[in-house]
Amino acid sequence: MMAGGVRYWDYLPDYHRQREEILSVIDGVFGSGRLILGNRVADFEKRFAAFCNAGYGVGVNSGTDALFLALKALDVGPDHEVITVANTAVPTVAAIRATGARPVFVDVQQDTFLMDVAKIEAVLTPRTRCILPVHLCGQSVDMAPLLEIARSRGIGVVEDCAQAAGALYRGENVGSMGDMGAFSFYPTKILGAFGDGGMVTTSRDDLYRRLRRLRFYGMEGSYYAEEEGYNSRLDEVQAALLDFRLQTLESEMLARSALADAYHRGLAGVGDLTLPVVGEGYTHRYYLYTIRTGRRDRLMAHLAERGIETRINYPTPVHLMRGYAFLGYRQGALPVTERLAAEILSLPLYPSLPADDVARVIEAVRSFFEA
Ligand SMILES: *Cc1c(COP(=O)(O)O)cnc(C)c1O
Repeated sequence: MMAGGVRYWDYLPDYHRQREEILSVIDGVFGSGRLILGNRVADFEKRFAAFCNAGYGVGVNSGTDALFLALKALDVGPDHEVITVANTAVPTVAAIRATGARPVFVDVQQDTFLMDVAKIEAVLTPRTRCILPVHLCGQSVDMAPLLEIARSRGIGVVEDCAQAAGALYRGENVGSMGDMGAFSFYPTKILGAFGDGGMVTTSRDDLYRRLRRLRFYGMEGSYYAEEEGYNSRLDEVQAALLDFRLQTLESEMLARSALADAYHRGLAGVGDLTLPVVGEGYTHRYYLYTIRTGRRDRLMAHLAERGIETRINYPTPVHLMRGYAFLGYRQGALPVTERLAAEILSLPLYPSLPADDVARVIEAVRSFFEA
């Protein structure tokens, strides 16, 4: 990174500021005599589930596994189809494939980048077992019509909440509306660990019991499998660190909003830019601040020349990737998704991003369009 540049994301300033507390949390776990599935995981599961307004949380080792185990808990398998979107992180699709099921993609809305739920009916088949909406960038999918379709046909709903911890839809938390919510604690996420981690939330007792079994070799007690299971546990150390970070999550979410407001104000009406659109009744948590322009690649280069890091989330929709060519999707299958991939750009945004850096980004974006 160029000296004096603007980082897209950086955890080190927070780490150095909180180093003593963080090390004492780790020391507390190491000295506790319990390293796997102890009180730290159990406490954090309760507190995170409460934060999501869900009945239960089951800690697992990643967001990918949270999705995979949630699908397994609904008995999704090789004979089934799961409806999702292609403008997502690869793991959404990898988790579906890990069950053997076939991902079926629907297009997205141009203004929010989120699943166009009006397109779901057209792809329903007798094999459809689950709908997997992705709450991309920090904003919820339009859940009411989606839940209506799922309920009327007896189809499961697993929410991919990896980018949207804390997001609200008509006052309801993501991860509390579908049968289950899958969260990632990958370090960059809204609530990030110091390594990998994930959680499944649910308010159904049967799914809660099933998930606890699935993450622990299929066992309920000791050395006896009730069913085929896996090893996918949240670590005591990560759980303790996540619990520590959960205490300041509310203020970090406010910091994200304030930075997003600064971008809104500084970039309104500039060039052909389209800024993030937040629907009526939605609370966006700004995991990403993603803008759109027809001159995306040149803008990205212009910012890079000024030491400003940006990202494209995501440059290639999953249905057009070589690894998923076997699904048989062609260019043109998802026109809005494909157009957005060529126009989107995510600007730096994380809670401790200095206001001066935001001002520099705004200035640099403006100078590009004013040149
Ligand atoms: C990060 C992410 C995941 C995967 O989470 P991991 O913890 O990295 O396995 C899944 N879906 C989306 C939308 C993500 O952003």
